[in-house]
Amino acid sequence: MKKKAFLILIAVLLIIILIISILYLNNKNEKNNIIKDKIDAIEEIKKHYSKYVLTNKETNLYKKENDKYIGAGKINSNVVIRLDKADITLDTKYFYIPDLELYIDYNSVDPTDEYIKDDRYNNYIYFNNNITTNNVTSFYDKDNNLLYTINQSFDFKVLIKDDDRYGVVFNDELVYVNSDDVLNIYDNANTDLKNKSKIRTLTYHFIYNPEKQECNQSICQSLSQFESHLKYIRENDYFTLKLDELEMYLDGKLQIPEKSIVLTIDDGTILDVDAVKLLEKYDSNATLFVITSWVDPSPYKSDNLDFESHTDNMHNQYECAGYGMQGGGILCLPEETVLKDLKTSQDKLGGSKYFAYPFFDVNDRAISLLKKAGFNMAFIGQYDTEGYSYPNKTDKYKVRRMTIFSDTSMDEFISYLK
Ligand SMILES: [Zn+2]
Repeated sequence: MKKKAFLILIAVLLIIILIISILYLNNKNEKNNIIKDKIDAIEEIKKHYSKYVLTNKETNLYKKENDKYIGAGKINSNVVIRLDKADITLDTKYFYIPDLELYIDYNSVDPTDEYIKDDRYNNYIYFNNNITTNNVTSFYDKDNNLLYTINQSFDFKVLIKDDDRYGVVFNDELVYVNSDDVLNIYDNANTDLKNKSKIRTLTYHFIYNPEKQECNQSICQSLSQFESHLKYIRENDYFTLKLDELEMYLDGKLQIPEKSIVLTIDDGTILDVDAVKLLEKYDSNATLFVITSWVDPSPYKSDNLDFESHTDNMHNQYECAGYGMQGGGILCLPEETVLKDLKTSQDKLGGSKYFAYPFFDVNDRAISLLKKAGFNMAFIGQYDTEGYSYPNKTDKYKVRRMTIFSDTSMDEFISYLK
């Protein structure tokens, strides 16, 4: 009997030990699971973090007041933002956006590549005006995509006076505010820098490498001649405008420094790719007017060279004999033919708003067809103004240009920059 009781005692003890062990192991597992869950949760937050992130939906922006996050505005989807360095913990719910001085829900963003802000606006000259915005201010990019709306009034110097909107600098970036959001515009008495009163556009044609190519026309420029010009432009801090900037300047929407110039290259039929490398080397911008049925511009692709239309196939002499100097087709060919040609050139270039008349020949009919085809601006030769164009005065369908020749001297070139 005693032995039996002893055995039962042992059995009970064993069962107790077993239960304790199971409980202990369970507990340990649970603890492990909790730790694992925590690590997973932190990893999940970290997945959303990067120096640059892209918003994945329209979402709220927050400001922090007394350790509470309070709604301060909205941000659109697909907006790139820079984040502050973050110590991510389990408690992290928001990332800080130093440029906006606001917070965003970590779930609303995903990492994206580093994004280089366009800093061309640094060349522009401020108007002598400031704007004060409403208590809620929306910001847009150049193409009028909404970026963010902040529940706050701002005061900005005006950099661009566009139709129904103002270009301002916010967080080292050119952004736009709609006139509807502007409460007040006032003079700021800033007269430090003056707008340039007129601008010259220069025309190059055949930029060639004398070691590889022959070019015997007066409109040929050797690579070394082209380089001497670009070197001078860079060393003397000239701003080389893109054509959308020239358009805004001529519309009186944008002010530019005294040292400004526009570079264009026509035809592209003789153009050494090293000419494009020179534009990159001296960080200058130019526009190539392409005859799209003759030239495939893809080898010249560069951030420093824009492509615009020089017709698809209307660069033939005396197609319109008796019209203009050399009778380019745009002067007289049937409307349908001209519009089809222009459309083809625009399609091949992936869109084009700017045009150079073949042989600089222009008439009223050509202008009306260019307008129909959706061109905003068109270029001729130097004519009566020595290649100058003037804001709020020059007909944008007759923008003057000065031609550079093979025998244009350095002194002449420098005088053209004035
Ligand atoms: Zn041409």
